Amino acid sequence: MKVPDIIIAIDGFSATGKSTLAKLIAKEFDFVYLDSGALYRGVTLHALENGFIDKDNNIDLEGLKKSLDEGLDLHFESDGGQSHTFIGERDIESEIRTLRVSSSVSPIAAVPFVRAFVDNILHAAGRKGRVVMDGRDIGTAVFPDAQVKLFVTADPDVRAQRRFDELKAKGENPVFEEVKKNLEERDYIDSHRETNPLRRADDAFVMDNSDMTLHEEIVWTRGFLMGRFGILELTTASSSNAGQC
Ligand code: C5P
Repeated sequence: MKVPDIIIAIDGFSATGKSTLAKLIAKEFDFVYLDSGALYRGVTLHALENGFIDKDNNIDLEGLKKSLDEGLDLHFESDGGQSHTFIGERDIESEIRTLRVSSSVSPIAAVPFVRAFVDNILHAAGRKGRVVMDGRDIGTAVFPDAQVKLFVTADPDVRAQRRFDELKAKGENPVFEEVKKNLEERDYIDSHRETNPLRRADDAFVMDNSDMTLHEEIVWTRGFLMGRFGILELTTASSSNAGQC
């Protein structure tokens, strides 16, 4: 199945499996996958390592701005459905996924000059199209003209359990209640910040994947794309028969 060179925007709450779905779409339809959250996490790691944010999430805005203006080489290296995040030559993919980074990322992502910094990288990466990008504001602010927009949501307990299992599998020792609290806090900050808050674009399709397997999600998406791009042609006879018994 050939999908045209479009941008697919996948937004939604934390730990809804957006990136897993986006990676599968990239693999299935030969798109480049871009994880916008990884860039916010990368800026957060940089801020933590350079003392621009303390343990109470107070941000040294001046210091952080100066260091971004001086040039932080934050970038992706993509290989089909896989994408790794780098600062210079350093692969930071696993460090940006810790609970420590998760606890500070939403306050950092609420800072307007951080969003402008990340948006520049995303625009450059998405310019050529044939990209599937996941985040919070892709369909509303980064690529409002994206041809396909999905908004993914799931039950909060299901999401917390998924993230808990993920952290455990990586060798961390998470506490379920802490993981759940982190997701709730991030969702709150992400939805209430002034600059480009998390919200469903008016033209986005909602997918609640609480009770869906990954297999079902990809089959659903495939069907959706077939319908959207007219790859599945309904004959006039079968369309006009619809609803008749
Ligand atoms: O997607 P992920 O959970 O890795 O994103 C980490 C954080 O980055 C989010 O909680 C949110 O604060 C921020 N983010 C954002 N806008 C995006 C993507 C992520 O504000 N487009």
